[in-house]
Amino acid sequence: MRIRGFEYYAAKDLRDALEKMEEWGPQAKVLAGGTDLVPALKKKKIQPAYVISLHKLRELDYVRQADSQVRIGAMAKHVDLASNPILKQNCSILCQAVSLIGSWQIRNVATIGGNLCTASPAADSAGPLLALDGRVVIAGLDGEKEIPLASFFTGPGETVLKPGQLLKEIIIDLPETRSAGCYLKLMRKKAVDLALVSVAFEGGLDASGKKLARVGIALGGVAPTPIRAVGAEEVLTGLTHQEAVKKLPEAARMAVEATRPISDVRASAAYRRAVVGAYVQRAMKAVSMTLFRT
Ligand SMILES: Cc1cc2nc3c(=O)[nH]c(=O)nc-3n(C[C@H](O)[C@H](O)[C@H](O)COP(=O)(O)OP(=O)(O)OC[C@H]3O[C@@H](n4cnc5c(N)ncnc54)[C@H](O)[C@@H]3O)c2cc1C
Repeated sequence: MRIRGFEYYAAKDLRDALEKMEEWGPQAKVLAGGTDLVPALKKKKIQPAYVISLHKLRELDYVRQADSQVRIGAMAKHVDLASNPILKQNCSILCQAVSLIGSWQIRNVATIGGNLCTASPAADSAGPLLALDGRVVIAGLDGEKEIPLASFFTGPGETVLKPGQLLKEIIIDLPETRSAGCYLKLMRKKAVDLALVSVAFEGGLDASGKKLARVGIALGGVAPTPIRAVGAEEVLTGLTHQEAVKKLPEAARMAVEATRPISDVRASAAYRRAVVGAYVQRAMKAVSMTLFRT
């Protein structure tokens, strides 16, 4: 599998990358860690005339906490995110998820920006960020705009990014009260693999510490894009621990209803649905153990 020739350019900074993207238009592809792009080039799924590498853009490799927000640069690598102290303390669900991506070799080079821009329905960073109500900043030569991550994905492998635009950073608002998250990923046992199904469950308590004030549930691998299970979230929001446990089967049913899984060689649609139902319940129980412990 030989890669067809292209002109390679290592951008010096964000502005430089955006200018080259503007100049070369849809003929150009950006390269972050290359773990999705290079296999796609090899398989000739894409044949760009220009490849613009972002590897010199250290300005996009960060995790910063400011006021009540965490900002993650698009070039932050999974290996660093998995052990980042700010994330571990405030949104550990993201650390759980990215530590399950691929292998050590993959996590050492692959970036969170690449994971989101590939827009796989099973992208591991997407679920936790959706459950955390994450937002993304899109940069172009005409400026920047911030949108909810939930509006970023438009289909398998597709996002709202237009030619000439880059994903610059991800923003997460920090919870003001106690919160906890659980990420569950089903994959083939003896393989480095994308999720067959994933469930991200993030919960937060109200000021009294007795009720679930916030519930975020996101599902991967069961629809054309990663999705929020809004109906299931609504069932559990505002409930005490005991009430939530009683309502859990209903929430799991709502989550299953939100899915549109396919059958393929890895799993049938029915199996994927069954796993969603079981994982939502299992994740909620794990989160409750942390949230409601005295
Ligand atoms: C063996 C193997 C195992 C894997 N396992 C997993 C897994 O378990 N879970 C999982 O979720 N993924 C997995 N992946 C997929 C891949 O590793 C991840 O999606 C990774 O995060 C992609 O990041 P990257 O930096 O390598 O992106 P790249 O390959 O460099 O780029 C991916 C795509 O995003 C675009 N892009 C990159 N950065 C930006 C940006 N800032 N703005 C706009 N566009 C951008 C590129 O043009 C390209 O189209 C695996 C891949 C391999 C090869």
